[in-house]
Amino acid sequence: MLAEALSDQPLVDIRHVKHFYRKGGAADLLVLDDVNLQLRDNEIVGLLGRSGSGKSTLLRSIAGLLKPREGEILFQGQPIDGPAEGLSMVFQSFALFPWLTVQQNVELGLEAKRVPPEERRQRALAAIDLIGLDGFENAYPKELSGGMRQRVGLARALVVRPALLLMDEPFSALDVLTAETLRTDLLDLWCEGRMPIRSILMVTHNIEEAVLMCDRVLVFSSNPGRIAAEIRIDLPQPRNRQSPAFRALVEELYSLMTARALGAPAREGLFPGMGIGMVLPEVSTNSLAGLLETLQEAPHNGSAALNALSDDVGLDADELFPIADTLQLFRLVELEGNRIRLTTAGRRYAVSDVDARKQLFSQHLLSFVPLASHIRRVLDERPNHQAPARRFRDELEDYMSEDYADQTLKAVTNWGRYGEAFAYDEASDLFSLENPT
Ligand code: ATP
Ligand code: MG
Repeated sequence: MLAEALSDQPLVDIRHVKHFYRKGGAADLLVLDDVNLQLRDNEIVGLLGRSGSGKSTLLRSIAGLLKPREGEILFQGQPIDGPAEGLSMVFQSFALFPWLTVQQNVELGLEAKRVPPEERRQRALAAIDLIGLDGFENAYPKELSGGMRQRVGLARALVVRPALLLMDEPFSALDVLTAETLRTDLLDLWCEGRMPIRSILMVTHNIEEAVLMCDRVLVFSSNPGRIAAEIRIDLPQPRNRQSPAFRALVEELYSLMTARALGAPAREGLFPGMGIGMVLPEVSTNSLAGLLETLQEAPHNGSAALNALSDDVGLDADELFPIADTLQLFRLVELEGNRIRLTTAGRRYAVSDVDARKQLFSQHLLSFVPLASHIRRVLDERPNHQAPARRFRDELEDYMSEDYADQTLKAVTNWGRYGEAFAYDEASDLFSLENPT
């Protein structure tokens, strides 16, 4: 009975986890909202979500590096309270000690556990060998390439024989080819059962990487982070990126990541929050114009699949989405599932000259971005047509954290300047009207 009950127990059980960060502004920033998740033996689970959605926060909570405000996290049936035995984490940056050799860096994890020196040496050598760094035991980190340093990071995580390996964007600091080699090597070890691990949880914002490596992918929504969708990847390993089934999963994930207000009862506006309380991404008018032009031109001729467009313009999903979202907010494109399409106004923008573009942009800015029309109204109403930016920043902080308020105001300032809807002077921190009407 007991054995049965134990085998049923998830390796990690996350129940109703909520986390806030304390912010200077009026309200704390809610980053994780009622996250529930179970990890089981023999699976690689991916956490996919946009920048700032709370992925690292969740990973750090599981690693015991921070304690969530609410809810509980059980690891092998025990509540997590500080860094737990049996759990290792690999970070995006390599975090090696420069004055220690590869071998010493790898042994470090075992010293804390009071493993005797000879056993430490043997186990470190085995981990170094496993991860393909044989012959580099005595090298120092500065002698290694980025890919090799990340291998040391992995060896250090594996040497303690963790039940669970947590990886936070382990490949994103590497160049494309190195990342691919490391992914394949890791997958081979995993599939051959040569890694002393029962389960892997990895954060990524690379959709293809998730489909390539994971058995399940959880899509995180932003502001606050919630698990909005779960996709099972049942394709056998090794996976073929070109196969129709692989492509279909990539497209499905693209659609899920662009869906607005995932899981929310109604489409409540494009960006989180409403009216002037909408958090806006800092997207340059150059990238907005660039994307509209690319979409207008062949081969897209006004409409494209987001993943194809992402390849075409050489931007990651994570970089592309804020641009696409902003264009949708301006009603210059329409997003539907994985497709992006120019609206009539978007088409007009793409083929217009500089002045006509600015005029169109300004009209749409003032019609569809509530903060922009709010600033404009204040300036119109004041006799001197000036207003301190501080005032809008304070207003925004009633709705969002200081960082978001800053980002949002910067975004609107740049858009307003480009469209000549209003001017802003940094030295005096004043908004003004260029051509009062
Ligand atoms: P990325 O993909 O950019 O790594 P993420 O999904 O890992 O993003 P987190 O790093 O978990 O996101 O951050 C979630 C939100 O919490 C962000 O808005 C971030 O600015 C904020 N945040 C993160 N750490 C702190 C902190 N120590 N104090 C205050 N706010 C924080
Ligand atoms: Mg992160």
